[in-house]
Amino acid sequence: MVDARLTPQRADELAAGWAAAQARVAAAARDAGREPSEVRIVAVTKRFPASDIEALAALGVTDVGENRLPEARDKRAQLEHLDLVWHFIGQVQTKKARAVSALADQVDTVDREGLVTALSRGAVAHGRTVGCLVQVSLAEDPAAAAAANRGGCDPAQALALAGLIADAEGLRLLGVMGMAPLGGDPERAYAVLADAAGRIRSEHPAAATVSAGMSGDLAAAIAAGATQVRLGTAILGERPAVG
Ligand SMILES: *Cc1c(COP(=O)(O)O)cnc(C)c1O
Repeated sequence: MVDARLTPQRADELAAGWAAAQARVAAAARDAGREPSEVRIVAVTKRFPASDIEALAALGVTDVGENRLPEARDKRAQLEHLDLVWHFIGQVQTKKARAVSALADQVDTVDREGLVTALSRGAVAHGRTVGCLVQVSLAEDPAAAAAANRGGCDPAQALALAGLIADAEGLRLLGVMGMAPLGGDPERAYAVLADAAGRIRSEHPAAATVSAGMSGDLAAAIAAGATQVRLGTAILGERPAVG
């Protein structure tokens, strides 16, 4: 049961946002000489109510992204009747990994060995298989990236981390994820990600997902080969402030 009601106005906004986002992705794919169907859209629903997710699912959204554990747990519990793929896109503290593995279908932010171990244990304990993306840091300046708390492994370590995920019980290696640095050059950043993705794919051919691109830079990401974009504002509008 969904606790909040969707107003007709909000339903219209979401329909328009979803249509516009699909059109932007399709145009970016065509501009890059790619098929629009090669790019999956993950609707980033963090801080928006479960009623918005229910409306988006009715419009055809298949994948949703959340970044806080209690919020994601609460929404998923309200929406068990929907067939959605739940992505965890926030940084995962090791002590929270077990809970995340109980909840997420896919963790897009796996960036260190200790997290692989903890997610694997949790997935096995819950009898689940959790899809994982290796989050690669695309920061030009690692110190600034650490300060911004955006996570991600060194690109040079991505292949080794992918191997650990591929060998871990309860986890499935799906590919890579990256975020362009704030104020940086997205083309350069996404080229680094594409390089890591290619090296991983050559050893793990099924790990073909490249999650890159948000509302502000989806065209650069799609030009560089993204197969998944994570769109919040472009679909749902400005996020409410953290409460
Ligand atoms: C919030 C968030 C997004 C969506 O950002 P928008 O600019 O609203 O599209 C994408 N990826 C991650 C990891 C996020 O935390």
